[in-house]
Amino acid sequence: MGRDSRYDILFEPVQIGPVTAPNRFYQVPHCTGMGWQYPRTLAAMRKVKAQGGWGVICTEYNSIHPSSDDLPHPYASLWDDSDVRAHALMTDAVHEHGSLAAAELWYGGANSNNLFSRLPSMDVDSRPNTKGHPYQTRAMDKQDIRDLRRWHRKAALRARDAGFDVVYVYATHGYLISNFLHPRVNTRSDEYGGSLENRVRLTRELIQETKDAVGDRCAVAVRFSADEEIGEDGQPIYGERREMFEMLSDLPDLWDINIADYSVEMGVSRFTKEAALEPYMHWVKSVTDKPVVTVGRFTSPDTMVSQVRRGITDFIGAARPSIADPYLPKKIEEGRLSAIRECIGCNVCYASDSIGVPIRCSQNPTMGEEWRKGWHPEILRKKSSEARVLIVGAGAAGLEAARALGVRGYDVLLAEASRELGGRVSREAALPGMSEYIRVKDYREQQLIEMPNVEIYRESPLTVDDILAVEADHVAIATGATWRKECFDEERFVPVTEGAALSRVFTPDDIMDGKLPDGPTLVFDGDGYYMASVIAEKIRAQGHAVTLVTPSDSVSDWAGKTSERWRIRTHLLRLGVEVLPSKSLVQFDGEIAELECTYGGPSVTVPVANTVMVTARKPNDSLYRGVLGRMSPEDLPFSLRRIGDCDAPAIIAAAVYAGHRYAQELEEAVDEDIPLKHDRVDVGQQPI
Ligand code: ADP
Ligand code: SF4
Repeated sequence: MGRDSRYDILFEPVQIGPVTAPNRFYQVPHCTGMGWQYPRTLAAMRKVKAQGGWGVICTEYNSIHPSSDDLPHPYASLWDDSDVRAHALMTDAVHEHGSLAAAELWYGGANSNNLFSRLPSMDVDSRPNTKGHPYQTRAMDKQDIRDLRRWHRKAALRARDAGFDVVYVYATHGYLISNFLHPRVNTRSDEYGGSLENRVRLTRELIQETKDAVGDRCAVAVRFSADEEIGEDGQPIYGERREMFEMLSDLPDLWDINIADYSVEMGVSRFTKEAALEPYMHWVKSVTDKPVVTVGRFTSPDTMVSQVRRGITDFIGAARPSIADPYLPKKIEEGRLSAIRECIGCNVCYASDSIGVPIRCSQNPTMGEEWRKGWHPEILRKKSSEARVLIVGAGAAGLEAARALGVRGYDVLLAEASRELGGRVSREAALPGMSEYIRVKDYREQQLIEMPNVEIYRESPLTVDDILAVEADHVAIATGATWRKECFDEERFVPVTEGAALSRVFTPDDIMDGKLPDGPTLVFDGDGYYMASVIAEKIRAQGHAVTLVTPSDSVSDWAGKTSERWRIRTHLLRLGVEVLPSKSLVQFDGEIAELECTYGGPSVTVPVANTVMVTARKPNDSLYRGVLGRMSPEDLPFSLRRIGDCDAPAIIAAAVYAGHRYAQELEEAVDEDIPLKHDRVDVGQQPI
């Protein structure tokens, strides 16, 4: 099947200054949690995106000098020639497939940590670190500005030498250059502060100097925010943005446009839908003749075409859609739209960078594993035998195991207890705002339906006898996990009540089963991710008073890593959910909940009719243990594994990964002692 002619426009080449992008698919700079530490891993990951048809492929942020360092958040660097060699791995790999490679130059200012280099960062003024570290920046004097410009120029030259086709001036996201532009942040009284012309001066100089340095061979792109902030009503506040933009509009070769509020720009699907930036940046193309790229978690080719045809953007910018499906452009080109693995907008990819570990993705388990494990999102090793595989449970783990084994060519039987496939993703997707999570199931179900070698048995709750009767060669138990009613006190699970009051204690599974509490309800969040907030919203929507209690200092603490905590907090506030942080639930008698202060302050009581415990999950591994209860592993006529939440309950990305790993490794020789290649800086080239 070929490409639908409606989408032809997406495959037109576009000139960017001295270079030409082969199509309009543009992977914008995005965090990878790898930075300068994992050059081979990065090169292999980006190579796959080039294979998958992305016309332009960017790096993440490249520090131009050690006084801009962001560890523990991994950043790339262009400090010296070893960086040039490391980046050349990527540019070569990307060029091999006809795509352009782009490098984003970065100076963090008050928004960088410098915990690695220990050098003071510099900014417009001596400002507190915006990530909460007790360090302030040095106020830049004229010499500092000259130094910065020199470092930027040298980094641009290194980018060119590394083979990049596009070099970025990064003037947004609260980093140094955007602080110079900002009317309230920039309080300088010299020629770099005060008037608009003065505040724009540094950006103008950096664009011009980058063009002078590399403009004969590389395009110069500018990353810029279309608005100054978002108002209370959600409407953009442009401030001087338009004027600023008009002053610079034809200087660079390309504009990469985003918006000031990162939690909207990079919003989770619960709060931000596809093409959400358009209301903020729709005017940009009317002010410049240069090509424009912007993002919007685009996965629908019709939306992409509409954006281009209506003159909103020239390129379809993507970070997350390119992570979830590195082959998205190719699938559109080949007319295989149902094979697109759509991003679910969970921001687990971003969380990896927040934590400081290599990227992972809920939809694409091969992300980050291209080099160290040799995994590919589309190409899997052929099966090693004619073995039959039984998978019990069609949640995220079971579905992915069945899909990947199906691609490998194995005969697969997938048995699912309920009528609906998807397990927890289908159940969670029915909760408020979570609908896009269903894509984890939809993509896999669609793929499985098209595989003649995979048989799906719905409404088939298997027993140990059933499993033995199937006579499969391999059995994977993927039966998930069940939310507990107890608290976890960091040592053990403890019940909060007993007797009749137990019937007033609910779990997320009850809520997802439609068993809703009646009356004032306390939601106890010992889990720390999104679930408690979603449950609170669901119950509040029934008209009940809801109090969300958490031992943490903040609602949905872990969701800070996915950049959604702030949105959750505001959302709950607007819904009228009362939030009590730093409190543990110690007892509930059916009428009163007793809360202990985690700092040793006085206990408090809250009159409520119900509690919902969002604490921990118990693996559903009775089937696994039941099989082993019949026969020892050596006597079993099949290999037996448990995968996903039934093995170790975790986030959806972990279940998908577990299912994929099972399928990749089945009947393959895996060295358990060295299960992955170790990427690291090549010490052979560096004297001590
Ligand atoms: P994971 O995230 O590990 O994939 P899920 O909870 O999403 O786990 O999915 C587990 C799936 O297993 C659910 O769809 C559930 O209905 C199914 N399941 C549980 N027990 C059995 C069983 N005995 N036979 C078949 N399916 C089962
Ligand atoms: Fe999308 Fe989630 Fe994958 Fe990130 S981790 S690309 S948000 S599906």
